[in-house]
Amino acid sequence: MFFGGFPFGGFEDGPHPGMPGMRREKKEVDNKRFYEVLGVSQNDDLNTIKKAYRKLAMKHHPDKGGDPELFKEIGRAYEVLSDPEKRRTYDEVGEEGLEGSGGGSDPTDIFDLFFGGGGGRRGGGGGRRKGEDVVHPLKVTLSDLYNGKTRKLAINRDIICPDCDGVGGPESAMETCSACKGRGIRVTIRQMGPMIQQMQSPCTECRGQGKYIPQHKQCKRCGGDGTIKERKVLEVFVEKGAPDNKKIIFRGEADERPGQLPGDVIFVIQQQEHPVFTRKKSHLLMKKKITLLEALTGFSFELVHLDNRKLIIKSNPNEVIKPGEMKAIANEGMPSVKNPFIRGYLFISFDVEFPDALDDKTCNALKKLLPSPRKMDMDIDDQLDAEVHYVETVDPERLKEDAARSGEAYEEDEDEGMGGPRVQCRQQ
Ligand SMILES: [Zn+2]
Ligand SMILES: [Zn+2]
Repeated sequence: MFFGGFPFGGFEDGPHPGMPGMRREKKEVDNKRFYEVLGVSQNDDLNTIKKAYRKLAMKHHPDKGGDPELFKEIGRAYEVLSDPEKRRTYDEVGEEGLEGSGGGSDPTDIFDLFFGGGGGRRGGGGGRRKGEDVVHPLKVTLSDLYNGKTRKLAINRDIICPDCDGVGGPESAMETCSACKGRGIRVTIRQMGPMIQQMQSPCTECRGQGKYIPQHKQCKRCGGDGTIKERKVLEVFVEKGAPDNKKIIFRGEADERPGQLPGDVIFVIQQQEHPVFTRKKSHLLMKKKITLLEALTGFSFELVHLDNRKLIIKSNPNEVIKPGEMKAIANEGMPSVKNPFIRGYLFISFDVEFPDALDDKTCNALKKLLPSPRKMDMDIDDQLDAEVHYVETVDPERLKEDAARSGEAYEEDEDEGMGGPRVQCRQQ
């Protein structure tokens, strides 16, 4: 057997990763990648890692156009390397040795990066593990984002049982778990080809506590679980001008577990579409149809804004609006989060509706009225040696149909086979 010489019986319940004899097999394990992701060396201290992380996280934050996958990867690398215990495990056995590997914790809010959060808070509980974060999407209308809104949302969560303080019964009734010999974790070794994989998982018998209370002595209120259900109402404040995908974080409001710091409840704003306005960061965009007459002689229309104010939008005197032209109104876009009194632009893109036909009388009147640098029709018609063509309206789709009916494949060369069905996809 490959590792017949190992004290194998001792492994199952062996102490933490750094077992003698494992080191020789370590070469197969990738324990460099996280260091590479953060651009630090294995000897760098926590401070250097922290600095490297902040810099990278700011640079690659999705809010600033960074790649979300890379950003997650950076967050994951930092999560591991900033935690001394996880870092030691990673150095020993690579990512495989870390529980929940691959999932990665939720990347930190960008504001944390500015204000000095981001990982540091994990140390607050004396190295206690932090529970999982709970992420909820929060649908918000554009009006709510314009005006700001407080939403009340109820969450159901587990809290530490107040009767037994999360112990599950009286402390005196506590017995040491025999399955894990009180350590709360079980280590299993698996051989995969030439590699040895070491897996750590919480002990299922005692749910990772290392000790348990026999059933008949368990707390009545929580049934020995140590936690009970609680319904809690959270007031979620959506700021004026909050960006789409913004995270609103309630620290420590996720499920409580004995011996763990509770995770966060995170609401992620999902901006809903609006029938009139489209948002582009701090600006608003809308389309407006006007008639040809309005385009030439001026327009004026009423617009109900996102806060129900009525605006009258007018063209400037003597201004002509061209089809597709974009005009802007200052300070009628989205409010800025920092200062809601400062707003972006409202852009209006104009679609000019032209009449399909004009009668002779109108044409002649217009010819006299509108300036034209070009020669008039009559002058051109005088050139008798030129052919005269009238334009027609042709639907490109109909052209294709006609071609198909006459057996002429529209895009193909004419001299390649006459009539009959053709093979459309030729093998090269
Ligand atoms: Zn209890
Ligand atoms: Zn156990």
